[in-house]
Amino acid sequence: MKNIVKIVLGILVISAVGYRLSSPINKQKIKKPKNIILLIGDGMGLSEVSASYFFKDSVPNFDRFTTIGLIKTSAADALVCDSAASATAYASGVATYNGAIGVDMQKKPVPTIIEKIIPMNISTGIISTSSIMHATPACFYAHAASRSSYQDIAAFLPISKIDFIAGGGTEFLDKNKREDTRDLFKEFEDNGYEVETNSLPNTTTDKKQAIFLAEDGMDKILEGRGDFLPNVTKMALDKLSKNKDGFFLMVEGAQIDWAGHDNDANYLITELLDFDKTIGVALDFATNNGETLVIVTADHETGGFTLSKDNGDYNKIKPTFSTTGHSATMVPIFAKGPGEENFGGLYKNTAVFKKMMDIFN
Ligand code: MG
Ligand code: ZN
Repeated sequence: MKNIVKIVLGILVISAVGYRLSSPINKQKIKKPKNIILLIGDGMGLSEVSASYFFKDSVPNFDRFTTIGLIKTSAADALVCDSAASATAYASGVATYNGAIGVDMQKKPVPTIIEKIIPMNISTGIISTSSIMHATPACFYAHAASRSSYQDIAAFLPISKIDFIAGGGTEFLDKNKREDTRDLFKEFEDNGYEVETNSLPNTTTDKKQAIFLAEDGMDKILEGRGDFLPNVTKMALDKLSKNKDGFFLMVEGAQIDWAGHDNDANYLITELLDFDKTIGVALDFATNNGETLVIVTADHETGGFTLSKDNGDYNKIKPTFSTTGHSATMVPIFAKGPGEENFGGLYKNTAVFKKMMDIFN
């Protein structure tokens, strides 16, 4: 009996010590950031990220992250996800069908993070190297049953109240090219936007800004896009960070996916390294700012990309593809900044929305 008492006491002491050792970490209140920069590399699986280590002359910016997780990407109606279902999961926390833009399985609109935080006086921005009406950015501000309804999707933009918009897509705004002949450029101006369609402005303004520098998608890096993505991201951060109440900025490296569809390794790697450079801009800003959480992830993997050995040579990498479509492989998620702890682990794409909203709520 005495021995049993001793054992029980022993267990209690050990658990108490164990509790004391673990409690400061478990109980510590995670500091909330004020700002979130979400960077989405479309089609950027782990092999794509790995390529940055083998094809960049310096250490990639992925190396600067301290919290890493994995995301299960499946759509509600399919094992292999598309950009629309995935971006709806990220923007609204809802599992839906491939092709859905901000709508659920019943095609009912679901509120997006941008729609939820604008009334909280948080500034917002979206940037992409595709058209802004393309699936990934569209899911953050529009609601459409089909991702191909670009003209309908575009009509959400002038009334979106998003502070900073940059990418391609003039053909969906132009009254001469729209079936309904609506002049969305004018609608932007009527809603207080400064619109730019020639080149990246040198400075930000106090007005909301909409910058459209291509009819549809932006040029490839290989076709001379240059530093559009890192530069425009820096510009957005300058503008949005003036709001002391915080901001949310979504930046998409859209063409990593397009290169995967093309099974074009050179295209893929150049787009990936451009995206990595942009991550560097975000991380530099966040390090300096101290109240910003940077999240980098992908919507799904594209191309079944692998870094195989070149025939018999284990010292040479031969980028290889297994499909011209998407794959179901998990994608990595990287986080750095206050609250990054919440982004480690293995979870579904829909959880990212909830984790981000917990920060703004
Ligand atoms: Mg995309
Ligand atoms: Zn794709």
